Amino acid sequence: METSRREVLRTGAAVAVAGSVIGLGGGWGAAAAVRTPAGAAAARPPFAGEGVEPAAWRELRRRLSPAAGLYRPGSAEYGARATPDNQRYAFVRPTGVLACATESDVVTAVRWCAEHGVPFAPRSGGHNYAGYSTTSGLVIGLRALKDVVPQGHRLSLGGGATNSDVYKARAANLYFPGGRCPEVGVAGLTLGGGLGFNDRKWGLTCDRLTETRVVLADGTLVRASDNENADLFWACRGGAGGNFGINTGFVFDAVPVARLRATVFDLTFALDAGVQVMEDLRHILDADRDNDFDVRIGFKHAGDGTTSLWVLGQRLGDENALRRLFTPLLQLRPTRAFMEERGFWHAQDYLMEPLGAKEAYASKSLVPDQWPTPDTVAAVAEWTRGWQPGPGRATGYITLFAMGGDSAAHRPDETAYPHRRATFVIDIGTHWKPGVPPGEVRALLERTRAAHHMLCRRLSTRAAYVNFPDPDLRDWQHAYYGANYDRLVAVKRRYDPAGLFHYQQAIGRPRV
Ligand SMILES: Cc1cc2nc3c(=O)[nH]c(=O)nc-3n(C[C@H](O)[C@H](O)[C@H](O)COP(=O)(O)OP(=O)(O)OC[C@H]3O[C@@H](n4cnc5c(N)ncnc54)[C@H](O)[C@@H]3O)c2cc1C
Repeated sequence: METSRREVLRTGAAVAVAGSVIGLGGGWGAAAAVRTPAGAAAARPPFAGEGVEPAAWRELRRRLSPAAGLYRPGSAEYGARATPDNQRYAFVRPTGVLACATESDVVTAVRWCAEHGVPFAPRSGGHNYAGYSTTSGLVIGLRALKDVVPQGHRLSLGGGATNSDVYKARAANLYFPGGRCPEVGVAGLTLGGGLGFNDRKWGLTCDRLTETRVVLADGTLVRASDNENADLFWACRGGAGGNFGINTGFVFDAVPVARLRATVFDLTFALDAGVQVMEDLRHILDADRDNDFDVRIGFKHAGDGTTSLWVLGQRLGDENALRRLFTPLLQLRPTRAFMEERGFWHAQDYLMEPLGAKEAYASKSLVPDQWPTPDTVAAVAEWTRGWQPGPGRATGYITLFAMGGDSAAHRPDETAYPHRRATFVIDIGTHWKPGVPPGEVRALLERTRAAHHMLCRRLSTRAAYVNFPDPDLRDWQHAYYGANYDRLVAVKRRYDPAGLFHYQQAIGRPRV
């Protein structure tokens, strides 16, 4: 039975607020049963749809909108739809993949899973590092809900829109800070924070969110904003996807960019230049009073054995101004030095990550509030130099995302994303081609673990970015959320008291 959206919103809000507060320990039975491979933490037993009668599947099909797709093992499109972006988790085979076509489909799916005890995982872009949007139960896919619609100075998005949907739409020349990978979902990005080349200027993606619609565990659809379900809204800005409900829509406060120009830069150096490059960039960032400058710095050892230090980013404004700023950097003899002034959208096109063949990947992150010393930068370069690609020709990298500026304009408790004093978000990772044997994967992960350990010690932090989730991380509650964790547990108890939304690092999961 389907209800009109307005009615659902009204009743949903009432039900959600009335949600009782009970312990979270007992309800993990209908969990997203994700098993984790080499090097990852403890797993739940697999679920392969046992006990779900064919009649129940037929009933689900009947309750869905005509445009929705339901794919079971054996059907033609199942393979492509079941597999997440991260090939490390391609072995997890869902009992079904639902391509929702409407918000009502999402409501139907959540209710059906609850009624039949089927674990589920929402999926938008499917780019979760730790495979948390895959499950041996039902994948609830939102990709078809991807409209990008201007509303005055705001942009309204469906819950399955990706970065590329926003860039392609260029709706009314309105923009909000997004991420770099075209296929990453705005849902996952926003719910965990959202870093991009414009966060120093206009804040994190989650900072521009003004409203979101959420299907809760009891199957109701509610609106969350500063004025409605404000605690849920707070949690949706950094508390990570898959914890409180399924977000079917987002509204962002946008910036008009039609007249803006940006100069993109893409420089490559030898690793030996690392200390001086970092020093020069520090001066540029320190002097960047208007937060026009944003940069990522990558130390990389590619699978083919080549090493490089890349510096990629943009400065809002003209090319001459950037060239003046970069005079000391250019004296360091980069092997590549591309700089070009472009219209705003054209600049974002340049910064988008090129799509390649799908690979397996794993990442660890660190979020320091201090600048790395020259010794630390030299140690990062040394680790990169010593990376062994192994028979799988795996890439090893350490990437630093510059923070500060407007991303630091909030108190750590103002949104669930807590790392407001960060100098950088650091991504320590590896990617490899599918098919590398588990022993070799363990060796790759051990190498990233060593770099993480070294940087934890040198930067005196264990803080981590929840959108680079690491299944091996101990005390992830504190690392991802800092002092905000207890408040997130309270929100979880209120909106999902039985713990229906669940995965290995879900909010409220008992500490081990
Ligand atoms: C190649 C690559 C590049 C990246 N670049 C950046 C970057 O530039 N900046 C940055 O900040 N991060 C970046 N990330 C990390 C990225 O932000 C996270 O992986 C993000 O969670 C992905 O969102 P998604 O919707 O694609 O993922 P999904 O895997 O679909 O979902 C992520 C989590 O949210 C849940 N979820 C999905 N949809 C919904 C929904 N509609 N409602 C509620 N929960 C939902 C899932 O169950 C899962 O737990 C990158 C990741 C990759 C793999």
